[in-house]
Amino acid sequence: MADADLESFRADARRWLAANAPQSMHGPPASPDDLCWGGRKARYPDDVRRWLAVMAERGWTAPTWPREYGGGGLSAAEAKALAQEMAKLALRPPLVGFGLSMIGPLLLQAGNEQQKREHLPRITRGEIRWCQGYSEPGAGSDLAGLQTRAVRDGDDFVVNGQKVWTSYADKADWMFLLVRTDPEAPKHAGISFVLMDMESPGVSVRPIRLISGASPFCETFLSDVRVPVRNVVGKINEGWGIAKMLLRFERNMIADVFKERDDAARLLALARRHVGDENGRLRDPIVRDRIAQVEMDQACFEWTLARSRDRVKAGHAPGPETSIFKYYGTELNQRRRELAVDVAGPEGVGWEGPGFAPDDLRLVREWLRSRGNSIEGGTSEIQLNIIAKRVLGLPD
Ligand SMILES: Cc1cc2nc3c(=O)[nH]c(=O)nc-3n(C[C@H](O)[C@H](O)[C@H](O)COP(=O)(O)OP(=O)(O)OC[C@H]3O[C@@H](n4cnc5c(N)ncnc54)[C@H](O)[C@@H]3O)c2cc1C
Repeated sequence: MADADLESFRADARRWLAANAPQSMHGPPASPDDLCWGGRKARYPDDVRRWLAVMAERGWTAPTWPREYGGGGLSAAEAKALAQEMAKLALRPPLVGFGLSMIGPLLLQAGNEQQKREHLPRITRGEIRWCQGYSEPGAGSDLAGLQTRAVRDGDDFVVNGQKVWTSYADKADWMFLLVRTDPEAPKHAGISFVLMDMESPGVSVRPIRLISGASPFCETFLSDVRVPVRNVVGKINEGWGIAKMLLRFERNMIADVFKERDDAARLLALARRHVGDENGRLRDPIVRDRIAQVEMDQACFEWTLARSRDRVKAGHAPGPETSIFKYYGTELNQRRRELAVDVAGPEGVGWEGPGFAPDDLRLVREWLRSRGNSIEGGTSEIQLNIIAKRVLGLPD
């Protein structure tokens, strides 16, 4: 696209965003729960619904997806310009979730035409919220050891088994999951990747409470659940390749969560409040050094991530290098959360009560939540194994 065309697109986008974004959609949400995750079960405030509706109408909830599937049909350069204009106006995304970041991109690459037409537009409009059914009580890092069985019965599979750590299973409408369709085959060979309506008879979910006090994930029980054979993505028994493709999108998404944050300003403000400053500099030189190091590492991480994102937007599928971003982004976030609690001192370990400022109480919960970052989406040890084998080519 010529520079002049891109600039004209940018100017149009800026005008349109300024005219259509509700005032309350400017500025960061108080917590991830204040973002719009869509779905049939949630009720959102009017402004959130309006923002979703106008952006979806334009295809800008999924800017680069093709228009026939509800996307905006934008080029990588246009999508970047749109994101930059939204950032300048401090606009929050109209929609987030596993539909946009995981199963949607996967279906674009590996779904058949009927699956794309059925699911993608409902994702872009925020009508359906998705969850991920990979882990089982006996299968986490060793995911291919999964035991949930799917037995063919006419045009359906009958599914029995249990999934665990299913984030938002209690809020989701559909699940993408891995099932064993050939128990005789070697463990990587007998797996299929299927799409399941959570309202199917035989699906039940039970929330699990986390150390941070929240219950973002569940155990999911599947008892004689009928899933149409047409809901298999890719070929039956060849789901392992599809599963790995999706994990790359997931790792990208997790790394993305840790970029372009307002945390630098937050950490500094926190340190000023608790440590104090002298002549415009933080009083404690050790805290000053630690904050500077985290921010420098964050900047390097974001630049490297941006370079890789440009390649993906230009049509390259994400490769095993997504493990580097998943590993580094999550470890960096943990360092940042620990530093924040350290800086706050005794006020950084409060759980509840009037003696603590609400911002300090949030620090504790964020720190505890960050412990799961190096587990979800594949643990740090597993990412290091992938980097060693697939990126660096080291022997087993
Ligand atoms: C916040 C959160 C959200 C999650 N959301 C979902 C979800 O939505 N859907 C879903 O399906 N799952 C989800 N999970 C589950 C997650 O994917 C698993 O917890 C993860 O894959 C690890 O599996 P595991 O818990 O069984 O640990 P294990 O696999 O039992 O690992 C235990 C320890 O052993 C280490 N280890 C295992 N194998 C190796 C090896 N080969 N080399 C070196 N070290 C090894 C691990 O790194 C880890 O430290 C979520 C987890 C968390 C924490």
